[in-house]
Amino acid sequence: MTDCVFCKIVAKQIPATVVHEDELTLAFMDIGQVNPGHVLVALKAHAENLYTLDDAQAAAVARSCARVARAIRDAFAPDGLSVYQANGKPAGQTVFHYHVHLLPRHAGDGMELTWPVKNPPREKLEEYAAKIRARLAR
Ligand SMILES: [Zn+2]
Repeated sequence: MTDCVFCKIVAKQIPATVVHEDELTLAFMDIGQVNPGHVLVALKAHAENLYTLDDAQAAAVARSCARVARAIRDAFAPDGLSVYQANGKPAGQTVFHYHVHLLPRHAGDGMELTWPVKNPPREKLEEYAAKIRARLAR
């Protein structure tokens, strides 16, 4: 996509600090660095979000995430690591080219994600699950 910043990074039209590359993915340092070692794993092909990935692309991103996460752990010894991926503006997506954040975490680092649990009854969970299962079966 011609005006996509991540497509330009993949095409090396915009500089990036790359840590890992394979046939389908490119991993590079997030310019914002919420914490040292913060890496983005992007699909090389333009795909707006998770919904558009084929199985091979999804598997490639997961493989690269696991490999790079282990390297981040070994290099920075964080207290933890958050994996963050957003689909759509309301979810927090700001670059509309599929990517995953690998974010080393430390106690009290200021990174927050509120998690407003609703704890619905089991019947509601079954209702939600049935909707999803029906679409998976298609
Ligand atoms: Zn793109």
